[in-house]
Amino acid sequence: MKIAIAGSGALGCGFGYMMQKGGNDVTLLDFWEDHINAIKENGLSVTVNGKEDTIIIPIGKPEEITDTFDTIFIFTKSMGLRHMLEEIKHILTEDTKVVCLLNGLGHANTISEYIPKKNIIMGTTVWTGGLDAPGKTHFMGEGPVEVQNSDENEEEGARQVVKMMADCGLNGVYSPDVHFTTWRKACVNGTMNALCSILDCNIKELFETAQIDELNRGIVSEFSRVAETEGVRLDVEETVNYLKATAEKVGGHYPSMHQDLKNKRPTEIDFLNGVVAKESELKGFEAPYSKQITQLIHAKEDILGIK
Ligand code: NAD
Repeated sequence: MKIAIAGSGALGCGFGYMMQKGGNDVTLLDFWEDHINAIKENGLSVTVNGKEDTIIIPIGKPEEITDTFDTIFIFTKSMGLRHMLEEIKHILTEDTKVVCLLNGLGHANTISEYIPKKNIIMGTTVWTGGLDAPGKTHFMGEGPVEVQNSDENEEEGARQVVKMMADCGLNGVYSPDVHFTTWRKACVNGTMNALCSILDCNIKELFETAQIDELNRGIVSEFSRVAETEGVRLDVEETVNYLKATAEKVGGHYPSMHQDLKNKRPTEIDFLNGVVAKESELKGFEAPYSKQITQLIHAKEDILGIK
Protein backbone atom coordinates (compact mmCIF):
# COMPACT_ATOMS: atom_id res chain seq x y z
CA MET A 1 0.00 0.00 0.00
CA LYS A 2 1.25 3.52 -0.73
CA ILE A 3 0.87 5.36 2.57
CA ALA A 4 1.47 8.87 3.91
CA ILE A 5 1.64 9.63 7.61
CA ALA A 6 0.29 13.15 8.08
CA GLY A 7 1.72 14.22 11.43
CA SER A 8 4.82 12.22 12.27
CA GLY A 9 5.19 12.60 16.01
CA ALA A 10 5.28 9.74 18.51
CA LEU A 11 2.49 7.58 17.10
CA GLY A 12 2.97 8.68 13.48
CA CYS A 13 6.62 7.55 13.55
CA GLY A 14 5.73 4.30 15.30
CA PHE A 15 3.02 3.40 12.81
CA GLY A 16 5.14 4.62 9.88
CA TYR A 17 8.05 2.46 11.02
CA MET A 18 5.92 -0.69 11.42
CA MET A 19 4.21 -0.17 8.06
CA GLN A 20 7.46 0.38 6.16
CA LYS A 21 9.01 -2.68 7.83
CA GLY A 22 5.88 -4.60 6.77
CA GLY A 23 6.64 -3.87 3.09
CA ASN A 24 4.55 -0.75 2.40
CA ASP A 25 5.72 2.37 0.59
CA VAL A 26 5.58 4.95 3.41
CA THR A 27 6.24 8.72 3.39
CA LEU A 28 6.25 10.80 6.58
CA LEU A 29 4.82 14.33 6.52
CA ASP A 30 5.46 16.87 9.26
CA PHE A 31 6.11 20.57 10.00
CA TRP A 32 8.78 20.32 12.73
CA GLU A 33 12.05 21.38 11.04
CA ASP A 34 14.51 19.80 13.54
CA HIS A 35 12.67 16.46 13.38
CA ILE A 36 12.53 16.49 9.56
CA ASN A 37 16.23 17.38 9.28
CA ALA A 38 17.25 14.72 11.83
CA ILE A 39 15.36 11.99 9.93
CA LYS A 40 16.77 13.18 6.58
CA GLU A 41 20.32 13.17 7.94
CA ASN A 42 20.37 10.13 10.27
CA GLY A 43 17.23 8.13 9.49
CA LEU A 44 14.35 7.46 11.89
CA SER A 45 15.33 5.73 15.12
CA VAL A 46 12.46 3.82 16.75
CA THR A 47 12.54 1.61 19.82
CA VAL A 48 9.62 -0.83 19.52
CA ASN A 49 8.80 -2.70 22.73
CA GLY A 50 12.40 -2.15 23.89
CA LYS A 51 14.13 -3.13 20.60
CA GLU A 52 15.94 -0.29 18.84
CA ASP A 53 16.22 0.08 15.06
CA THR A 54 16.97 2.83 12.54
CA ILE A 55 15.41 3.07 9.08
CA ILE A 56 15.77 5.35 6.10
CA ILE A 57 12.32 6.73 5.30
CA PRO A 58 11.21 9.66 3.13
CA ILE A 59 10.00 12.73 5.06
CA GLY A 60 8.90 16.18 3.97
CA LYS A 61 6.56 19.05 4.61
CA PRO A 62 3.01 18.57 3.30
CA GLU A 63 3.28 21.54 0.94
CA GLU A 64 6.34 19.99 -0.78
CA ILE A 65 4.51 16.77 -1.67
CA THR A 66 3.03 16.30 -5.13
CA ASP A 67 2.56 12.50 -4.96
CA THR A 68 -0.80 10.96 -4.18
CA PHE A 69 -1.36 8.01 -1.81
CA ASP A 70 -3.78 5.09 -1.41
CA THR A 71 -4.13 5.82 2.29
CA ILE A 72 -3.22 8.73 4.54
CA PHE A 73 -2.98 8.13 8.29
CA ILE A 74 -3.49 11.32 10.28
CA PHE A 75 -1.44 11.54 13.46
CA THR A 76 -1.55 15.20 14.48
CA LYS A 77 -2.89 16.23 17.87
CA SER A 78 -6.64 16.96 17.70
CA MET A 79 -6.10 20.71 17.45
CA GLY A 80 -3.74 20.21 14.47
CA LEU A 81 -6.19 18.13 12.42
CA ARG A 82 -7.86 20.94 10.46
CA HIS A 83 -4.55 22.65 9.68
CA MET A 84 -3.10 19.35 8.44
CA LEU A 85 -6.16 18.70 6.24
CA GLU A 86 -5.75 22.18 4.73
CA GLU A 87 -2.07 21.45 4.04
CA ILE A 88 -2.70 18.07 2.37
CA LYS A 89 -5.91 18.88 0.50
CA HIS A 90 -3.98 19.21 -2.79
CA ILE A 91 -3.04 15.49 -2.60
CA LEU A 92 -6.51 14.20 -1.65
CA THR A 93 -8.08 12.45 -4.66
CA GLU A 94 -11.55 10.96 -4.92
CA ASP A 95 -10.04 7.55 -4.01
CA THR A 96 -7.74 8.58 -1.14
CA LYS A 97 -8.67 6.85 2.12
CA VAL A 98 -8.01 8.85 5.28
CA VAL A 99 -7.54 6.94 8.52
CA CYS A 100 -7.96 8.83 11.80
CA LEU A 101 -6.85 7.23 15.09
CA LEU A 102 -6.66 10.43 17.12
CA ASN A 103 -8.00 10.63 20.62
CA GLY A 104 -10.96 12.95 21.01
CA LEU A 105 -14.44 13.51 19.63
CA GLY A 106 -15.85 15.09 16.47
CA HIS A 107 -12.97 14.33 14.09
CA ALA A 108 -15.04 12.48 11.46
CA ASN A 109 -17.14 15.63 10.97
CA THR A 110 -14.01 17.73 10.40
CA ILE A 111 -12.55 15.22 7.91
CA SER A 112 -15.88 15.01 6.03
CA GLU A 113 -15.40 18.65 5.03
CA TYR A 114 -12.42 17.51 2.93
CA ILE A 115 -13.24 14.02 1.56
CA PRO A 116 -16.39 11.96 0.95
CA LYS A 117 -17.62 10.03 3.98
CA LYS A 118 -17.11 6.71 2.15
CA ASN A 119 -13.33 7.30 2.23
CA ILE A 120 -13.09 8.10 5.96
CA ILE A 121 -11.90 5.33 8.25
CA MET A 122 -12.15 6.02 11.97
CA GLY A 123 -10.49 4.07 14.74
CA THR A 124 -8.81 3.82 18.10
CA THR A 125 -5.46 2.43 19.15
CA VAL A 126 -4.05 1.24 22.44
CA TRP A 127 -0.43 1.38 21.18
CA THR A 128 1.49 4.15 22.93
CA GLY A 129 4.55 6.16 21.98
CA GLY A 130 6.76 9.07 22.88
CA LEU A 131 9.28 11.37 21.22
CA ASP A 132 12.70 11.16 22.87
CA ALA A 133 14.43 13.70 20.59
CA PRO A 134 14.06 14.91 16.99
CA GLY A 135 14.25 11.77 14.83
CA LYS A 136 14.14 9.44 17.83
CA THR A 137 10.96 7.82 19.19
CA HIS A 138 9.72 4.86 21.20
CA PHE A 139 6.60 2.83 20.49
CA MET A 140 4.96 0.22 22.69
CA GLY A 141 2.08 -2.21 22.65
CA GLU A 142 0.61 -5.18 20.92
CA GLY A 143 -2.63 -3.63 19.77
CA PRO A 144 -5.43 -3.83 18.91
CA VAL A 145 -5.98 -1.04 16.38
CA GLU A 146 -9.73 -1.03 15.78
CA VAL A 147 -11.05 0.61 12.60
CA GLN A 148 -14.33 0.94 10.74
CA ASN A 149 -15.51 2.97 7.74
CA SER A 150 -17.30 6.14 8.77
CA ASP A 151 -20.03 5.29 6.26
CA GLU A 152 -21.78 2.21 7.62
CA ASN A 153 -22.54 0.99 4.07
CA GLU A 154 -18.84 0.77 3.25
CA GLU A 155 -16.61 -1.96 4.68
CA GLU A 156 -13.98 -2.75 2.09
CA GLY A 157 -11.66 0.20 2.86
CA ALA A 158 -11.44 -0.60 6.57
CA ARG A 159 -11.01 -4.33 5.84
CA GLN A 160 -8.00 -3.55 3.59
CA VAL A 161 -6.45 -1.34 6.28
CA VAL A 162 -7.05 -4.08 8.89
CA LYS A 163 -5.27 -6.63 6.70
CA MET A 164 -2.35 -4.31 5.98
CA MET A 165 -1.93 -3.55 9.70
CA ALA A 166 -2.23 -7.20 10.68
CA ASP A 167 0.53 -8.02 8.15
CA CYS A 168 2.73 -5.37 9.82
CA GLY A 169 2.31 -6.65 13.39
CA LEU A 170 0.02 -3.77 14.36
CA ASN A 171 -2.87 -6.06 15.27
CA GLY A 172 -5.51 -4.41 13.06
CA VAL A 173 -9.07 -5.39 13.97
CA TYR A 174 -12.30 -4.58 12.13
CA SER A 175 -14.62 -2.86 14.62
CA PRO A 176 -18.37 -3.42 14.32
CA ASP A 177 -18.98 -0.18 16.27
CA VAL A 178 -16.11 2.27 16.19
CA HIS A 179 -18.40 5.07 17.36
CA PHE A 180 -18.84 3.26 20.69
CA THR A 181 -15.10 2.49 20.97
CA THR A 182 -14.26 6.15 20.32
CA TRP A 183 -16.67 7.38 23.00
CA ARG A 184 -15.42 4.83 25.52
CA LYS A 185 -11.81 5.83 24.84
CA ALA A 186 -12.89 9.48 25.27
CA CYS A 187 -14.20 8.49 28.73
CA VAL A 188 -10.77 7.06 29.60
CA ASN A 189 -9.06 10.27 28.49
CA GLY A 190 -11.76 12.52 29.94
CA THR A 191 -11.33 10.97 33.39
CA MET A 192 -7.75 9.70 33.85
CA ASN A 193 -5.95 12.21 31.61
CA ALA A 194 -7.85 15.21 32.86
CA LEU A 195 -7.83 14.29 36.56
CA CYS A 196 -4.15 13.21 36.70
CA SER A 197 -3.26 16.49 34.99
CA ILE A 198 -5.24 18.62 37.44
CA LEU A 199 -4.08 16.67 40.51
CA ASP A 200 -0.50 16.19 39.24
CA CYS A 201 -0.49 12.47 39.99
CA ASN A 202 -0.19 9.17 38.14
CA ILE A 203 -3.06 6.76 37.41
CA LYS A 204 -2.30 4.46 40.34
CA GLU A 205 -2.32 7.41 42.76
CA LEU A 206 -5.56 8.74 41.25
CA PHE A 207 -7.36 5.42 41.70
CA GLU A 208 -6.20 5.20 45.32
CA THR A 209 -8.10 8.39 46.25
CA ALA A 210 -11.40 8.09 48.13
CA GLN A 211 -13.07 10.39 45.58
CA ILE A 212 -12.29 8.51 42.36
CA ASP A 213 -15.52 6.51 41.98
CA GLU A 214 -17.74 9.54 42.47
CA LEU A 215 -15.61 11.65 40.12
CA ASN A 216 -15.59 8.97 37.42
CA ARG A 217 -19.33 8.37 37.74
CA GLY A 218 -20.03 12.11 37.46
CA ILE A 219 -17.84 12.60 34.38
CA VAL A 220 -19.00 9.43 32.63
CA SER A 221 -22.69 10.31 33.22
CA GLU A 222 -22.15 13.56 31.32
CA PHE A 223 -20.32 11.81 28.46
CA SER A 224 -23.02 9.15 28.34
CA ARG A 225 -25.84 11.71 28.01
CA VAL A 226 -24.21 13.42 25.02
CA ALA A 227 -23.20 10.08 23.44
CA GLU A 228 -26.82 8.98 23.60
CA THR A 229 -27.87 11.95 21.44
CA GLU A 230 -25.48 10.54 18.82
CA GLY A 231 -27.00 7.07 19.05
CA VAL A 232 -24.19 5.62 21.23
CA ARG A 233 -25.18 3.82 24.42
CA LEU A 234 -22.53 4.10 27.16
CA ASP A 235 -23.66 2.30 30.29
CA VAL A 236 -22.31 4.37 33.20
CA GLU A 237 -21.60 1.49 35.63
CA GLU A 238 -20.05 -0.69 32.93
CA THR A 239 -17.82 2.21 31.84
CA VAL A 240 -16.78 3.04 35.42
CA ASN A 241 -15.78 -0.63 35.90
CA TYR A 242 -13.91 -0.55 32.57
CA LEU A 243 -11.97 2.50 33.81
CA LYS A 244 -11.06 0.67 37.00
CA ALA A 245 -9.84 -2.38 35.07
CA THR A 246 -7.85 -0.17 32.66
CA ALA A 247 -6.27 1.71 35.59
CA GLU A 248 -5.20 -1.57 37.19
CA LYS A 249 -3.47 -2.59 33.94
CA VAL A 250 -1.55 0.67 33.41
CA GLY A 251 -0.68 1.41 37.06
CA GLY A 252 1.86 4.12 37.86
CA HIS A 253 1.81 5.70 34.41
CA TYR A 254 1.41 9.46 33.80
CA PRO A 255 -1.16 9.95 31.03
CA SER A 256 -0.31 11.90 27.87
CA MET A 257 -2.16 15.08 28.92
CA HIS A 258 -0.01 15.23 32.06
CA GLN A 259 3.06 14.85 29.86
CA ASP A 260 1.82 17.53 27.43
CA LEU A 261 1.57 20.02 30.31
CA LYS A 262 4.96 18.98 31.69
CA ASN A 263 6.46 19.61 28.25
CA LYS A 264 4.56 22.93 27.99
CA ARG A 265 2.46 21.75 25.06
CA PRO A 266 -1.29 22.45 24.59
CA THR A 267 -3.66 19.67 25.66
CA GLU A 268 -6.51 18.04 23.72
CA ILE A 269 -9.05 18.99 26.44
CA ASP A 270 -11.31 20.92 24.02
CA PHE A 271 -11.82 17.67 22.05
CA LEU A 272 -12.68 15.62 25.15
CA ASN A 273 -14.42 17.15 28.21
CA GLY A 274 -14.67 20.41 26.22
CA VAL A 275 -16.88 18.76 23.56
CA VAL A 276 -19.15 17.31 26.25
CA ALA A 277 -19.41 20.70 28.03
CA LYS A 278 -20.25 22.48 24.77
CA GLU A 279 -22.68 19.88 23.44
CA SER A 280 -24.42 19.65 26.84
CA GLU A 281 -24.94 23.40 26.87
CA LEU A 282 -26.37 23.32 23.33
CA LYS A 283 -28.72 20.50 24.27
CA GLY A 284 -29.82 21.99 27.59
CA PHE A 285 -28.09 19.42 29.87
CA GLU A 286 -26.17 20.28 33.03
CA ALA A 287 -22.50 19.21 32.75
CA PRO A 288 -20.66 20.81 35.69
CA TYR A 289 -17.80 18.27 35.74
CA SER A 290 -16.97 18.68 32.05
CA LYS A 291 -17.21 22.46 32.18
CA GLN A 292 -15.02 22.86 35.25
CA ILE A 293 -12.45 20.28 34.17
CA THR A 294 -12.08 22.09 30.82
CA GLN A 295 -11.70 25.44 32.60
CA LEU A 296 -9.15 24.05 35.07
CA ILE A 297 -6.98 22.51 32.33
CA HIS A 298 -7.06 25.77 30.36
CA ALA A 299 -6.17 27.66 33.55
CA LYS A 300 -3.21 25.32 34.01
CA GLU A 301 -2.13 25.96 30.38
CA ASP A 302 -2.31 29.71 31.10
CA ILE A 303 -0.26 29.39 34.30
CA LEU A 304 2.38 27.45 32.35
CA GLY A 305 2.36 30.04 29.55
CA ILE A 306 1.18 27.50 26.94
CA LYS A 307 -0.30 29.06 23.80
P1 NAD B 1 2.88 14.10 19.13
O1 NAD B 1 2.77 15.29 20.00
O2 NAD B 1 4.03 13.19 19.38
O3 NAD B 1 2.95 14.56 17.60
C1 NAD B 1 1.95 15.38 17.04
C2 NAD B 1 2.62 16.46 16.19
O4 NAD B 1 3.34 17.36 17.03
C3 NAD B 1 3.62 15.91 15.18
O5 NAD B 1 3.46 16.63 13.98
C4 NAD B 1 4.95 16.22 15.83
O6 NAD B 1 6.00 16.35 14.93
C5 NAD B 1 4.66 17.52 16.53
N1 NAD B 1 5.59 17.73 17.65
C6 NAD B 1 5.80 16.88 18.69
N2 NAD B 1 6.73 17.40 19.52
C7 NAD B 1 7.10 18.59 18.99
C8 NAD B 1 8.02 19.61 19.38
N3 NAD B 1 8.76 19.49 20.50
N4 NAD B 1 8.14 20.69 18.58
C9 NAD B 1 7.41 20.83 17.46
N5 NAD B 1 6.50 19.90 17.04
C10 NAD B 1 6.36 18.81 17.79
O7 NAD B 1 1.48 13.35 19.20
P2 NAD B 1 1.17 11.81 19.45
O8 NAD B 1 1.49 11.47 20.85
O9 NAD B 1 1.77 11.01 18.35
O10 NAD B 1 -0.42 11.80 19.33
C11 NAD B 1 -1.12 11.87 18.09
C12 NAD B 1 -2.58 11.52 18.36
O11 NAD B 1 -2.67 10.16 18.81
C13 NAD B 1 -3.25 12.36 19.47
O12 NAD B 1 -4.61 12.53 19.19
C14 NAD B 1 -3.08 11.49 20.70
O13 NAD B 1 -4.05 11.78 21.71
C15 NAD B 1 -3.32 10.12 20.08
N6 NAD B 1 -2.74 9.01 20.85
C16 NAD B 1 -1.46 9.11 21.32
C17 NAD B 1 -0.94 8.06 22.04
C18 NAD B 1 0.49 8.10 22.56
O14 NAD B 1 0.87 7.21 23.33
N7 NAD B 1 1.34 9.05 22.13
C19 NAD B 1 -1.72 6.92 22.27
C20 NAD B 1 -3.01 6.85 21.75
C21 NAD B 1 -3.51 7.92 21.03
